Amino acid sequence: MYQVNEKGFYGEFGGAYIPEILYSNVENLKSQYLKIMNDRGFQKEVDDLLRDYVGRPSPLYLAKRLSEKYGCKVYLKREDLNHTGAHKINNTIGQIILAKRLGKTRIIAETGAGQHGVATATVCALMNMECIVYMGKTDVERQHLNVQKMEMLGATVCPVTSGNMTLKDATNEAIRDWCCHPADTHYIIGSTVGPHPYPDLVARFQSVISREMKTQLLEHEGRDYPDYIIACIGGGSNAAGAFYHYLNETRTALVAVEAAGKGTDTDETAASILLGRLGILHGSRTLIMQTEDGQIIEPYSISAGLDYPGVGPLHAHLAKEGRAHVLSATDDEALAAAYELTSMEGIIPALESAHALAALPKMTFKPTDVVVVNISGRGDKDMDTYVKYFKKH
Ligand SMILES: *Cc1c(COP(=O)(O)O)cnc(C)c1O
Repeated sequence: MYQVNEKGFYGEFGGAYIPEILYSNVENLKSQYLKIMNDRGFQKEVDDLLRDYVGRPSPLYLAKRLSEKYGCKVYLKREDLNHTGAHKINNTIGQIILAKRLGKTRIIAETGAGQHGVATATVCALMNMECIVYMGKTDVERQHLNVQKMEMLGATVCPVTSGNMTLKDATNEAIRDWCCHPADTHYIIGSTVGPHPYPDLVARFQSVISREMKTQLLEHEGRDYPDYIIACIGGGSNAAGAFYHYLNETRTALVAVEAAGKGTDTDETAASILLGRLGILHGSRTLIMQTEDGQIIEPYSISAGLDYPGVGPLHAHLAKEGRAHVLSATDDEALAAAYELTSMEGIIPALESAHALAALPKMTFKPTDVVVVNISGRGDKDMDTYVKYFKKH
């Protein structure tokens, strides 16, 4: 019911709206991906790397002090402990092996905060593939550590100067590149966005998060489902991974947290499910922040990874069907939540993940409730922002 259909749609959202020149590439990917992903040899190659290279399974940690404060059992799914510091590597490991099986020799990617760029550059080094990463110039400046990492890993980072020079603009450039090199290039999209089959493909690679949660919750709690799963939403890949095996588990409430930026009643926001209207962006029909005449409204969030005017079609559908509850957190709420996790549990989260944590004070729980918050990444890349904020407070 919440899976993509034959044509690539989740309800009215999704599809593959692409230029003619990419048609055979996307068709080829569409006809091959499930066959390849269901192959035993492929699965073993992915699983071995996830275990020995990424460090999976990522722990499910019962946060005692947070639990006490919020009056329920708060578990943290520790994607921040993955190699390269976020959930993004789950997807790039899968896609690089997929690209090899498709006979591709050149990899391109877009990146916002730089986490997906680093995760892509990492697997390209591992597999000895050429790697080009498109990144908005604004993000190049605010995430310089990740730019340095990508370059050390051997990737070429191309700063993009169109629009407000962030993730949307980087994605446009990556698609443009792909149009010029359709034959030899695989585009590793970093989230559950883009034309079908990308949203489904990325969700499947990230679904390892909820697959592990089932086993881990059974061990900790004697039942394999929680009452709530909370995840932040940019394009929606960490949320898709955390929700995936619970989509039909009605005992589990799914909570998606968008970036409100300065507030959903201001022009500086990235709450695209709440404020978006139906449109087409980056090959997919979904909810997009746009003006009356369909011009994209430039998004804003303090967190580069959530600074995107659209959302993956799966999440637009889950929200519309009422399967997911959509909340939003402002910059300030996220910063406060990051500080709280750091001071109470000794974990510095990524700014993106801090948005998920910021949902806790907005919700009410029973003492028996089991709540899983997906900590999508660690905060190293955000230290400049944190330091600036803490000096003021
Ligand atoms: C990229 C990123 C996100 C946002 O992307 P999704 O596809 O929505 O998961 C969230 N958290 C971290 C740490 C990221 O790097």
